[in-house]
Amino acid sequence: MSKTIQTTCPYCGVGCGISAKVGQSLHQLEISGDVTHPANFGRLCSKGSALGETVELKGRLLEPTVYGQHGSWTEALDLVANSFSRIIEKYGADAVAIYGSGQLLTEDYYVANKLMKGFIGSGNMDTNSRLCMSSSVAGHKRAFGSDTVPGCYDDFEQAEMIVLIGSNAAWCHPVSFQRIRAAKEVNPALKLVVIDPRRTASCDIADLHLPLASGTDANLFNGLLQYLSKHQALDLAYIDAHTEGFADALKAAAIDLEQVAAVCGLNKDDIQRFYDWFANHKKIVSLYSQGINQSSSGTDKVNAIINCHLATGSIGKPGCGPFSLTGQPNAMGGREVGGLSHQLAAHMDFSSTDDIERVARFWNTQNIARKPGYPAVDLFDAIYDGKVKAVWIMGTNPVVSLPNANKVKLALKNCEFVVVSDCIKDTDTTALAHVLLPAQGWSEKDGTVTNSERRISRQRALFDGSGNAKPDWWIISQVARRMGFEQEFSYQSPVEIFREHARLSGFENNGTRDFDISAFADITEQDYQGLQPTQWPVNQANPQGRSRMFEDGKFFTVSGKAQFIAITPCLPVHSPDQHYPLILNTGRLRDQWHTMTRTAIAAKLNQHKAEPFVELHPVDAERYGLLANTLAGIESPWGSMIARVQLTDSQQQGSIFVPMHWTEQYASHGRMGALVNPIVDPISKQPESKHTPVRIKVYQPVYQSFILSRRELNMTMPDYWVKIKGQQHYRYELAGMSLPENWQDWAKNKLCDSQGETVQWQEYQDAAGGHYRAARFVNNQLESVIFIATKTELPERSWLTSLFAKTALEQGQRRVLLTGKPPVGVADVGTIVCACFNVGAKTIQTAIKSHGLKTHQQVGLCLKAGTNCGSCIPEIKALL
Ligand code: SF4
Repeated sequence: MSKTIQTTCPYCGVGCGISAKVGQSLHQLEISGDVTHPANFGRLCSKGSALGETVELKGRLLEPTVYGQHGSWTEALDLVANSFSRIIEKYGADAVAIYGSGQLLTEDYYVANKLMKGFIGSGNMDTNSRLCMSSSVAGHKRAFGSDTVPGCYDDFEQAEMIVLIGSNAAWCHPVSFQRIRAAKEVNPALKLVVIDPRRTASCDIADLHLPLASGTDANLFNGLLQYLSKHQALDLAYIDAHTEGFADALKAAAIDLEQVAAVCGLNKDDIQRFYDWFANHKKIVSLYSQGINQSSSGTDKVNAIINCHLATGSIGKPGCGPFSLTGQPNAMGGREVGGLSHQLAAHMDFSSTDDIERVARFWNTQNIARKPGYPAVDLFDAIYDGKVKAVWIMGTNPVVSLPNANKVKLALKNCEFVVVSDCIKDTDTTALAHVLLPAQGWSEKDGTVTNSERRISRQRALFDGSGNAKPDWWIISQVARRMGFEQEFSYQSPVEIFREHARLSGFENNGTRDFDISAFADITEQDYQGLQPTQWPVNQANPQGRSRMFEDGKFFTVSGKAQFIAITPCLPVHSPDQHYPLILNTGRLRDQWHTMTRTAIAAKLNQHKAEPFVELHPVDAERYGLLANTLAGIESPWGSMIARVQLTDSQQQGSIFVPMHWTEQYASHGRMGALVNPIVDPISKQPESKHTPVRIKVYQPVYQSFILSRRELNMTMPDYWVKIKGQQHYRYELAGMSLPENWQDWAKNKLCDSQGETVQWQEYQDAAGGHYRAARFVNNQLESVIFIATKTELPERSWLTSLFAKTALEQGQRRVLLTGKPPVGVADVGTIVCACFNVGAKTIQTAIKSHGLKTHQQVGLCLKAGTNCGSCIPEIKALL
C-alpha cells in the first residue's frame, strides 16, 4: 500500500512543494513536484527531484554518542544539561552558545531560541543564516522598520522587468528561475538584467548582463538613483507621502554615468541602457541574493537597491519590489523566531527594551537575555578565545561553511564541551563533538518552514524516525527540562510549539509588528496537519494571509514612513595586492547543496561537477602557468585548498571562482571556507564570502590516478584525493607527491579487500610512458579499475563508469577496457549535463550534429535532456 504525502523540499529558500509517494520501504519513495503548491506548481529542480535517493540509512547518525561511545538518550541528555548548567554556574550564561541552521524547522528553532535567550539568559544563539542573508535583514530593518520581504513569486509573472543582482538563480534558486524563463516565454517583452561579475547560467536568457567589478554594486545603484532623479523618473508623490530621507540619499549618491562606468568597470552604454529601462518601466522586481549579502558592505548594497524602489514607488504593488532570495529552506522561519543573535523572537529584537519586557512577560521568565549575543564569526572567535566554553551546534557544518574555517576547526578542537545534533554521522563538525545527538532527517521531521515569499508550508514526516533519532524540538526540550525549565518546555508535539509561536507573534502587537500569525494561535492538531501553504501575516485583518506588504505605503518605522538610507559606497576591506593578486569568489553549484551531507548521497547529483574546481580566465591561467584540467593550489592569508582548473571567459580576469560545497568527507583539500576572509559587514555581521584576496599556483603531483570501484574502498589515501559516489560504483580521483616503489603492489593494496571470491586481473604497464592500468574482476564481474599516469593525461571516466551497470563485460569491451576508450562504434556519453535523465555532453553534441538540432526544445524532444527540472538548459544552449 502506498500513500501520497505533501511536504516541502529541504534545500533552498524557494520552498517548493513536494508530493511524496511513500511505499513500504525507504527505497519505494517516489518524489514529484506538488502541482498545487504556489511556490513551484509542480516544478522541481535536480536536487529536489533526487530527494528519494537521499533517504538511505547508510551514514545516518542513529544513536546518541558520548565521548566516542554509543550512549543512551538519558545519558547524553543528562550530560548536555549538566555540562551546560555547570559552565553557566561557573562562568555565567554568556559562556554557552547555540549555533543553529536554516535547516531547522520553525518549531525546532523556536524552542532553541527560547531556551537560550529566554531561560539560560544569553543572547548567544546565532545561526548559519548569518552567512546567507543577514545583510538583507539589516537592510529591511533600516528601510522598512521591519524585516519584511514586500513581494511574492507571482510578481515574477507580472513584472515588466526583472533585475537579478548577485544571484545565479538558474543554479541557486532554479525553480524561481524557471518561473522567470516561463514568464519570458509567455511575454517576450519582459526584460531580464543580470548584474554579476561572472557570466553565469542565469545570463542564458538575459537581455543585458552587467559584469560589474566585484563589490561595486552600491555605486551602480547610487548612480541609478541619481539618473532617475535627473531624468524625471521619480515618483515624487510617493516619496513625499510615504518616505523620509530622500534628499540625503540623493546627495550621497552624487555619481554620474562616467564615474559609475569607471568604478564598476562597465561599458557606459550598457549602464545607460539599464538605467533607461529602469526609468521607463513601472513594474520592476529586483531579485538579489548572496552576491549582495555576503559583503563587508552588504547592508548598504541592500539599501542602495531599496532606495531605487522607494524613489520610483515600485514597492507593494503587483510586479514590483526589492526581493531578497533566501538561501536556505527555513532561513525565513529562523528570522521569525529570532534565530539571529541580535533578535529576540517574533520579529522583536534587543534594540527595544519594550520588546525585551514583552517577550519576558509572554514567556513568563525573569532570566531573559538583555543584549545581543555573538554573531556567527564572533561566536567562533569567542570559542577560540575560550570565552565561550560550551557550544551546541544544530544541523550545520561550520568547520566547512564559516570563513577562516581552519580557525573554526581549532576553536572546536579546544572547546571544553561541544555538542552536535545532526542526522548525518560523519561530518567535519561531528568529528569534533564530545556528544552527538541523532536528529531526525528531512523525511522524518514534522513542522513548518517559511520560504522567501513569506509562505509558511508544512514539512511532513514520510517515515517514522530511524533508529533512535528524535525531533530537534524534542531533544532541546529534554535538555531544557533537565536544566530546570520543566514547565516551560513541556511540549509534546510540534503543533503546541507552533501555537505558542503564533500567540507570541500577536502578543501586544496591535499592528505594530509585521510578523503576525495570530490567526493560528488556537490551531487544532487536525488543522495543523492539513495546513496549506500560506503567506504571513495571517491575523484578523488577513485571515487568508497576504501576498504583498506595504500596499498602503505604511511601514513599521516610528513615523510609519519608509527610510531612504544615504549610501557612501565602500569597496571591499581587503583588496588584492602583490602577494595575493586575485579575488576569490565563492558560490553554489547546480546539483549540490551546502556541505554535501545529503546531496552527495544521490549519485546522479555528483555527475555534473565531480571534483572541487577553480574557474579562471584563460589569460590568468597563462599568467600563472595553469593548464585546463590540471591541479592548482589556491592560498589566501587564512588558508589554502587544491582544485581542478577549469578555464572560462565567463570569469573576469583577476578573479577566480570556487564552489562552496566540498568537505573533508569527500575531498582532501576542497574546503573553500579555509580560504575565506572573515571580515564582516559592520551592521549585519555577515562575512565577505565573495571577495577574498588569493594567489594561485600549479600543484604538480608526481602521479595522478583514478579508481572506479563497485565497493566503497577502505584504503590509505595519497596526498590528494576526492571521493565521488556514482551509479553502482565509487570513483576516487587521486594524486601523490611521491612514487610508490611498485605500482602493482600499490594498486593491489588499494583494490583488494574481498576474500573467497574468484578474482581475475587484467593489467597493462608502460614504465617508460609512465602508465599503469589494471582491472579487477570478481566472479567475472568488473569490480574495479585503476588508471595511473605520471606523464600523460588519464582517459575520460564516463565510458568506464558506464560499465559498472553491466553484470558482465562483452569480449570487445574487455579487450579495450584498459585503453579507457569504448570500442569503435560505441558512443561515449561524456560529462553528464542533464542529471535528471543522465544525458552527457557527447551524446548531446552527437545528436545536435546528426539531427541538425537548433534549439534546446529540439534537444529535449530528441534526448529528454532539459525537460524535467530545466536546470541544464543553459548548458544545452551552450553546446548548441
Ligand atoms: Fe528544492 Fe530546487 Fe525547489 Fe530549491 S528550487 S526548493 S532546491 S526543488
